[in-house]
Amino acid sequence: MSRSAHPAGPRHADVLPEGHYSAPPADLNALDGKVWAQTVSRDDHGVVAVGGIPVTRLAEEFGTPAYILDETDFRARARAWRTAFGHDADVFYAGKAFLSRAVVRWLNEEGLNLDVCSGGELATALSAGMPADRIAFHGNNKSTDEIRRAVEAGVGRIVLDSFQEIVRVAHIARELGRRQRVQIRVTVGVEAHTHEFIATAHEDQKFGIPLAGGQAAEAVRRALQLDGLELIGIHSHIGSQIFDMSGFEVAAHRVVGLLKDIRDEHGVELPEIDLGGGLGIAYTSDDDPREPHEIAKALTEIVTRECEAARLRTPRISVEPGRAIVGPTAFTLYEVGTVKPLDGLRTYVSVDGGMSDNIRTALYDAEYSVALVSRSSDAAPMQARVVGKHCESGDIVVKDAFLPADLAPGDLIAVPATGAYCRSMASNYNHVTRPPVVAVRDGVARVIVRRETEEDLLRLDVG
Ligand SMILES: *Cc1c(COP(=O)(O)O)cnc(C)c1O
Repeated sequence: MSRSAHPAGPRHADVLPEGHYSAPPADLNALDGKVWAQTVSRDDHGVVAVGGIPVTRLAEEFGTPAYILDETDFRARARAWRTAFGHDADVFYAGKAFLSRAVVRWLNEEGLNLDVCSGGELATALSAGMPADRIAFHGNNKSTDEIRRAVEAGVGRIVLDSFQEIVRVAHIARELGRRQRVQIRVTVGVEAHTHEFIATAHEDQKFGIPLAGGQAAEAVRRALQLDGLELIGIHSHIGSQIFDMSGFEVAAHRVVGLLKDIRDEHGVELPEIDLGGGLGIAYTSDDDPREPHEIAKALTEIVTRECEAARLRTPRISVEPGRAIVGPTAFTLYEVGTVKPLDGLRTYVSVDGGMSDNIRTALYDAEYSVALVSRSSDAAPMQARVVGKHCESGDIVVKDAFLPADLAPGDLIAVPATGAYCRSMASNYNHVTRPPVVAVRDGVARVIVRRETEEDLLRLDVG
């Protein structure tokens, strides 16, 4: 649903009907543990702290806007996923959600594997010491150079996404004298979003090879014939921000159906099945995500049941959570610049960042929460909209939120659950420099990705 596509025009769409705001929370100073990182709390003076460090000190030392990442929470979530899936399954963190060398080291230490989908992500992973055999390489249009680097590095698997790529990877692997482990990504005709999934006969999207019409079966036939490839399994990824497991159920049923066809036609039982990522997190108090152990239990049961019915050995399962690990671990810290009440509508609160550090609201109509964090307040709640500093009226960070009516320039506000797809999708729109990522753990804060400077911007501009 795009704002500009509204039949009555963007102006109309922006003026929301009465009652769009839910009731204000009982206590504006409260921090819902569902949407805030694990070590976040408000101290006795009303200042919010993370990892034992007040946000006022973080703002002083690192400036605003800044992404503040709770390393303790990141490690705990990574470990929870690892533990939930145990030794008979693999967890691949989807690097596109947020990747840096520190993150790669944490994943390595916590025993997770890593998905990359570009040469840049691969370079980051390798430079921080992720063993190549624990890296999976994705993408619907990997360049031959990227494929060559991945094969040379010895990545654990390349996920094949098209007929051209089957031949391309096989050719490069042969040239390099290798046999590359690969999976084939299939589209199973399931599209899952949040609370519903849509099962369709045909897939109208760029990723994967459709199961429909025997295309995936043909891809398997070709991959099995090429001696540069070792086909280890089938891959399926059905969507994002999913809470309802029934989409996975349909996907697993269809993928296992393909495994059975492969066994019947070729006499091989492929040893692996990858069910992708897409598990949802809480952006607001209305969202109720599942715990990793519930997800692991559900997915394992689904695959086991389907395989028993098809009389197949249960393959090794892998999953690829990105958002569900990093999303809840960070918040964006902003300073309020202007507060503009519009009579009868709402109050516009402008912060020192915007769509350049969080494009998700403009791009997906995403919902976020926000809180005043540099102090507590007993003022009445006001209907607010948090907007950025960009030259674009769609530059909205939080569309509908309650903030205390005494909010003033200089206050710090924070938007939680910005760990995934915010820094990784950040831009330089309006030549705004991208914020740093500051990791906090046990009273120590350190920059893991530094703030971009105007010098950085000018260095790319060679005149
Ligand atoms: C994006 C993506 C993921 C991760 O999705 P999340 O919503 O962050 O969990 C996993 N696997 C594939 C193939 C993806 O494209």
